[in-house]
Amino acid sequence: METSAHSLATLPVGKIVCVGRNFAEHARELDSGIPSEPVLFLKPPTALLLGGGMVELPSFSKEVHHEVELVLRISKGGKNWSAEDSERCVDAFAVGLDLTARDLQNEAKKKGLPWAVAKGFDGSAPISELQPCQGLKSVSSQTIQLLVNGVPRQRSPLSAMLFSLPELIAFVSTRFRWEPGDLLFTGTPAGVGPVVSGDHLVATIGTTARLELWVK
Ligand code: MG
Repeated sequence: METSAHSLATLPVGKIVCVGRNFAEHARELDSGIPSEPVLFLKPPTALLLGGGMVELPSFSKEVHHEVELVLRISKGGKNWSAEDSERCVDAFAVGLDLTARDLQNEAKKKGLPWAVAKGFDGSAPISELQPCQGLKSVSSQTIQLLVNGVPRQRSPLSAMLFSLPELIAFVSTRFRWEPGDLLFTGTPAGVGPVVSGDHLVATIGTTARLELWVK
């Protein structure tokens, strides 16, 4: 395995890999099956909105949903990792939103078309400032939460994931080569729903990662 060290501040973001249906209750709420292996898709780096702030809804969707998710940053390059390798290859985490144009995604699912636009529009990947990661267990023992206009909409222990963090990182490395600076969105718990212009969103993981968004 190749190694290289980067500081939290200077590592540019590479590709953004996302996992779908990684919480059973969320798979059920979307009438999707429980997957036998992780469901993967990508967002382009232009989807990233680092640090939150104002997010603009895309003009081509009438139904954008929030999906609050733990985001991991990969700090080393390589492929075909074991779960044990994965533990050493994450240097930071954040709380993020996998904003989803649900109307476009539902249409794409029906027609067997890609989710690229539904999942990858500009600003569809807002994330908090990166926090140093002291081991994957210390992250997965925390609780993720999203408030919309002060009302709790999504809340779950991260330990409720179907595939664990080491499993996810290792699996992705068998499909896409990891590069330092890549991000992994690890899937959303139940409670997804629409966001509309004027909404104020606050996402947290434990007491360290916090993302605040205003929807334009
Ligand atoms: Mg998601």
